[in-house]
Formats: sequence, C-alpha cells, structure tokens
Amino acid sequence: SVIIGVLALQGDVREHARALESCGAHPLAVRRADELDRLDGLVIPGGESTAMWKLLRAFDLLEPLRKRLEAGLPAYGSCAGMIMLADRIVDGAAGQETLGGIDMTVRRNAFGRQVDSYESTIQFNGSPLEAVFIRAPWVESVGEGVEVLGRVERPHRPDAGAEHRIVAVRQGRLMATAYHPELTGDHTVHRYFTELVRQTKDEE
Ligand code: GLN
Repeated sequence: SVIIGVLALQGDVREHARALESCGAHPLAVRRADELDRLDGLVIPGGESTAMWKLLRAFDLLEPLRKRLEAGLPAYGSCAGMIMLADRIVDGAAGQETLGGIDMTVRRNAFGRQVDSYESTIQFNGSPLEAVFIRAPWVESVGEGVEVLGRVERPHRPDAGAEHRIVAVRQGRLMATAYHPELTGDHTVHRYFTELVRQTKDEE
C-alpha cells in the first residue's frame, strides 16, 4: 500500500484522509518536515492560500516541501492547494508566494463574490463528477506540458455569455483541482491520484 500524506496545517484533512483510505491508500496527517520522508505522495487541501503559505513558513515546511516536490514527490492540490502548486498567481495577496511546480497561471477567488460557492456537474478526465467550488480559483493559462483534465462553464454573468475555464490539471506527478472532491462521496479524483502515486512507486 502507498502512504499518502495530507498537509494538516488547515482545511479538510479528515475528509481527504477518509477518501484516500477508501481508495486503498494509507493516509498520514503531515505537520513536520521529517514526516515528508515517509511519503509516497501528498495532498494539499483547500483553505486559504495566504494563510497556508504563512503556516508553511512558520512550521519550517516551505523549503523542505519545495525540495521534495522538485525531487519528484507526487502531489495533489485542491482549491488553495491548487494555488500552492501554481507557478504563477493573479490576484494574490501582496508578496504571496507559492510552492510552484505546475506551469500554470491561477486566478485567486476567480468566480467572484456573487458566487462564493456552488456545485456543478463537470467532467474529470472524461467522466462526470459533482464538483463543489468554494471561493475557488480557476486556471487562466497553462504551459505546453500541462494536461487539462477538466473545465467548467463559468456561472452566467449578465454582461457575458458562457465561458469555459480550466479547473483540473496534471503535469507529470503533480495534479490540481479548483474544487473540493473530499466533500462529496465521489472518490474519482482521489482514485486517480492514488493510482498516480502507485505507478510512481512502482517505477522507483
Ligand atoms: N480563496 C482561497 C484562497 O485564495 C481558496 C479557497 C478554498 O481553498 N476553498 O486561497
């Protein structure tokens, strides 16, 4: 079995752990740098990306985690976790940094105040999925090496027609969704990530 950490500084740690367990992975809440060594993969949950960045620094996790990701640790970021894995952000807080790793530009709080949270049926890697968005980012643009796994039709604005935005991506061993799959009973995304972690472990 594979050990998949859930970064436990804030967010839906227990829900992610349950979803991973039901996919046959062994979840582990992670708060310290030395715990990173035990992991075959890592989930970065939603929350607030500015707070998460400050907590990562306060817990001395920022640099160790960057190093592990650069060395090939598979990681999956949801919502604020997606922001953390983005190489570039739009509408970030002053000086806000990310871990980076996925060649994409992500817009924070992209859906606007009037749609703080909503649910929508979308496609993930070709299969339908009920997605929950909470003050979610979307992906403005991706580099060539990034595979788009899902898009959403942006909620209608009076001044604009339908627009499609990227909300799920993968680049190598890193993946991210703008939504929160841990809040539904559908474990499609966690199954996909667990499989990615298994394959990576088999290759090594
Ligand atoms: N808006 C949050 C941020 O900027 C993300 C929200 C979430 O993770 N649900 O980090």
